[in-house]
Amino acid sequence: MIILGAGPIATEMAQAFCRLGTRVSVVQRSDQILSKEDKDLADEVMNVLIGEGVSFHLNASVVRTKDLGNEREVTIKTAEGKTVNLNAETLLVAMGREANLKGLGLEGIGVDFDRKGLKLDQRLRTTQRHIYGAGDVTGTYLFTHAAGYEGGIVVSNAIFHLPRKVDYTFLPWCTYTDPELASVGMNEKAAQSAGVKYSVWREEFKDNDRSLAEGEKVGKIKMLLDEKEKPIGIQILGPRAGDLVAEWVAVVNGKVKLSTLAAAVHPYPTLGEINKKVAGTFLSEKIFSEKVKKGLKFFFHLRGRACGEQSL
Ligand SMILES: Cc1cc2nc3c(=O)[nH]c(=O)nc-3n(C[C@H](O)[C@H](O)[C@H](O)COP(=O)(O)OP(=O)(O)OC[C@H]3O[C@@H](n4cnc5c(N)ncnc54)[C@H](O)[C@@H]3O)c2cc1C
Repeated sequence: MIILGAGPIATEMAQAFCRLGTRVSVVQRSDQILSKEDKDLADEVMNVLIGEGVSFHLNASVVRTKDLGNEREVTIKTAEGKTVNLNAETLLVAMGREANLKGLGLEGIGVDFDRKGLKLDQRLRTTQRHIYGAGDVTGTYLFTHAAGYEGGIVVSNAIFHLPRKVDYTFLPWCTYTDPELASVGMNEKAAQSAGVKYSVWREEFKDNDRSLAEGEKVGKIKMLLDEKEKPIGIQILGPRAGDLVAEWVAVVNGKVKLSTLAAAVHPYPTLGEINKKVAGTFLSEKIFSEKVKKGLKFFFHLRGRACGEQSL
């Protein structure tokens, strides 16, 4: 199978078909898979898939596809400018989805849309204010949970007349590869393109006892803090990352302090301990600053002398 594109669906399918015994090649235009994710995490996912037998052609553009009867042929141009033919029984095109709004007659009733989807305001009203949009037709976040969230906004505005605006700041998502890659808030890429200054804190699953007990050594958590040391985004690559990110969904939406998370007792041994640990790592660096370390050294030096033989 040749898969065109390396977004979440393409990557999930590549691993699934590979595990079912299919030889899979993925063709991707950019220099990484899962383009919206930070490259370090996306590369880790790719390396897992390579280890399982999937092959990747990055920085490759599709020149043409041909149906040869028994097989399909895809001609690509590689990063080095070479033209290469790939042949496979099946071709899976996963290069993104867009709303199919043509043919509904929206133009005739003054509802504007473009290739991405409906033109909506923050209350999800179209250019005809009594007509609303929710779900993939918004062209923003193409997820089931985004559709559910937007549905709630529409019900609030249209049925209950309670003005509510959409806010995607902390809309989470997860790519269901094994290991999973989950995210809420900004990653490094998003923070850099928004010009937001941040620091990154990491913990690895190889240091989590439950993860080790289950034989899972791949992955990490990345916590991004802004200049005020508030969490602006968390990415988790690892076992059940989609579930683990839920604690962070509560933290960022509820403006929970990192000290509260770090002080809260988590059951042992659980994967969730990694959430507490990354918060604790950040706090311990703050608590045990050079100044504090110097102070403690001085204090224990004094005590040491007071308790020593000379004082007897
Ligand atoms: C392979 C794949 C995997 C995915 N995995 C995930 C995932 O793991 N997690 C996640 O959150 N999201 C996932 N998604 C995305 C998710 O499926 C969509 O974001 C979600 O279904 C959007 O809901 P919706 O109601 O807007 O659109 P849809 O679920 O597409 O529903 C639209 C409905 O409208 C109907 N319709 C279309 N035109 C007309 C018409 N003219 N008249 C009447 N009815 C019409 C369609 O038949 C369809 O039933 C995945 C998508 C794909 C393709």
